[in-house]
Amino acid sequence: DDDDSSKYPSALRAKYTIHEKTLGVGSFAVVKECSDRSTGEKCAVKIILKKVIAGKEHMLDTELGILQKVRHEHIVSLHDIYESPEAVYIVTDLCTGGELFQRIVERGTYTEATAADLVRQMLEGLAYLHSQDIVHRDIKPENLLFKTPAENAELLITDFGLSKLLKNDHQILTTACGTPGYVAPEVLEGTGHGKPVDMWSVGVIMYTLLSGFTPFYGEDQNELFASIIKGQYDFDDENWDEISVEAKNLIDRLLTKDPAKRITAEEALKDVWITSEENKGINIA
Ligand code: ADP
Ligand code: MG
Repeated sequence: DDDDSSKYPSALRAKYTIHEKTLGVGSFAVVKECSDRSTGEKCAVKIILKKVIAGKEHMLDTELGILQKVRHEHIVSLHDIYESPEAVYIVTDLCTGGELFQRIVERGTYTEATAADLVRQMLEGLAYLHSQDIVHRDIKPENLLFKTPAENAELLITDFGLSKLLKNDHQILTTACGTPGYVAPEVLEGTGHGKPVDMWSVGVIMYTLLSGFTPFYGEDQNELFASIIKGQYDFDDENWDEISVEAKNLIDRLLTKDPAKRITAEEALKDVWITSEENKGINIA
């Protein structure tokens, strides 16, 4: 452990031991493991260099103040926030179970019921965030983490709310890192960025969970964006043959191009595919 390093704020070092272990690297941050000195509880600390929020420092206190109040079983809780001249340090719950798709790839086969359970957990977290008027804006598999390595571990949403600080409207179109295949058409068209954008992303994830491939694609970013803006996808691949009509109906309601007509998180939680346990025993390869 490099806890003696003076690069961390002293208030952070007073409460937490920072471990060498890097848990992940995102587009804007490095995430390290740490532990609470008094309780021994292991946490994650997300280190965001201030240069990536340049010009938006004034939003920091407000945004982080809001995020600090968020408490939900499917949302990664924020414990503490520290600042140094160079960086912001955000201490959160630790998730040791890995990212969503990583686990699914490792497992190889699962049922439609398992997929429904995962989508339900995302929807519960989002319904809560939306009830607090928080839009995540960056729902994608890398931001969905399992709490523990256990088979039935809870799925948690991370990285929420910060996108307002970290991204400007141009960056999303020009970012070189990662393909923004989960972004809603109205974001690309610059006409909307409200709660429905999160529901679109759930639709892309649900489609991908069930079929193993994404609904929209392109040879390059321009083609991908054109495909998303067109909003046309299909269930033609044979992978879809065994998938229930109920699943396809919910995907259609999530991937509805008009954000005003798109299903909300509350409505989706009442959808028959989410609530019904029937016809979900089929293994997905
Ligand atoms: P960014 O905003 O830069 O994308 P993230 O918060 O998404 O950063 O974190 C980047 C990666 O770090 C995640 O994809 C994940 O693998 C890992 N990570 C983030 N938060 C946690 C956490 N609470 N527990 C464990 N790993 C985490
Ligand atoms: Mg992330």
